[in-house]
Amino acid sequence: MTIDSATNYSFGTKAIHSGAPIDPTTGAVIEPISLSTTFAQSEPSKPLGIYEYSRSANPNRDNFEAAVASLENAKYAIALSSGSATTALVIQSLPIGSHMISGGDVYGGTHRYFTKVAKTHGINSTFVGDLASDLENNLKSETRLVWLETPSNPTLKITDISRVKEILNKHEESTGNRIILVVDNTFLSPYISNPLNFGADVVVHSVTKYINGHSDVVMGVLATNDVELHEKFRFLQNAIGSIPSPFDSWLAHRGLKTLHLRIKQSSESASKIASFLQSNENIIAVNYPGLKQHLNHDVVVKQHRDGLGGGMISFRIKGGAKGAAIFTSSTKLFTLAESLGGIESLIEVPAIMTHGGIPKEERELNGVYDDLIRVSVGIEDTEDLLRDIEQALKTVVSSI
Ligand SMILES: *Cc1c(COP(=O)(O)O)cnc(C)c1O
Repeated sequence: MTIDSATNYSFGTKAIHSGAPIDPTTGAVIEPISLSTTFAQSEPSKPLGIYEYSRSANPNRDNFEAAVASLENAKYAIALSSGSATTALVIQSLPIGSHMISGGDVYGGTHRYFTKVAKTHGINSTFVGDLASDLENNLKSETRLVWLETPSNPTLKITDISRVKEILNKHEESTGNRIILVVDNTFLSPYISNPLNFGADVVVHSVTKYINGHSDVVMGVLATNDVELHEKFRFLQNAIGSIPSPFDSWLAHRGLKTLHLRIKQSSESASKIASFLQSNENIIAVNYPGLKQHLNHDVVVKQHRDGLGGGMISFRIKGGAKGAAIFTSSTKLFTLAESLGGIESLIEVPAIMTHGGIPKEERELNGVYDDLIRVSVGIEDTEDLLRDIEQALKTVVSSI
């Protein structure tokens, strides 16, 4: 069965059936992996089917893209070789001399691309602390794009997407300048939030994280409802060649089919862990969007499905850098490693791992202290995860 995209199915049904046709030649319920790089033609320039050459389009990539488009309520999606390639493609679509504005604590690789690569291609960026409040004063006549990550990484601050869109709409009305709003939705996944519904022009994901969800594929995707943007991105992708392999597309599509189950489980455990940490005397502060005490909980309730907080938590532990080092080396189920969004729980110290490249003062201005720990909650049993956190805390208390 291929589901009709016009029918209003719920998320889980779409995750299973979108872009999942029964193979017409064999009846295979799961699509075969289509490794062929080229496709036969009956006469010159008359392909037998819809495919010609696998860089331009491939059945596995098409099916994955159809599934993501359906889950993000988008007309179009384009899958790429990594989340970083997705960022690069979006920025390369801007004319030379463009200016862009980005939220301050974006993913490290995104920050690196904006400051070290985009700049050499004639694109200048301004970073602001809080887009909802600082955007207006930083808009220029050359501003063409706003990059927004919500929740932010690793302090999990939430930005009101529709508020940012309102500011951009007002600017367009008074100046005639259209500014594209891009939202990196990697941390929440399409199950918890659909940025296009709140006014984003483009949503991007590192598929490497929640969408694939099994820590075995590096891949990216973008989705939009704007046909002009879509065609520009598709043209660029084919010209540049930043495509995922058929096997990775197939694996990521398989991962996506259980996204709703995984992220619900992660969120439920994360919420319990965050509450436990919040009430513990050895913890200085907890950042978790699902907590009522979160600074922007009102936006969370509006922007996230069922007010879910997602699977990411960060918290400050007593004992400084040493406390953070002991804690993260003492957990048994949370593996000390970078990355996030997989079935297995991970833990890290941003100040010396994912965010180690940012100068200390700038880091601390964004709340990334030496004692900050970031956790990606996997889908192990909640009670086991809680017990692991408790025993690691005890180890810290007894050794400092
Ligand atoms: C990991 C990540 C990226 C980069 O994606 P890759 O697949 O590693 O290239 C971009 N944005 C966010 C929020 C990420 O977590």
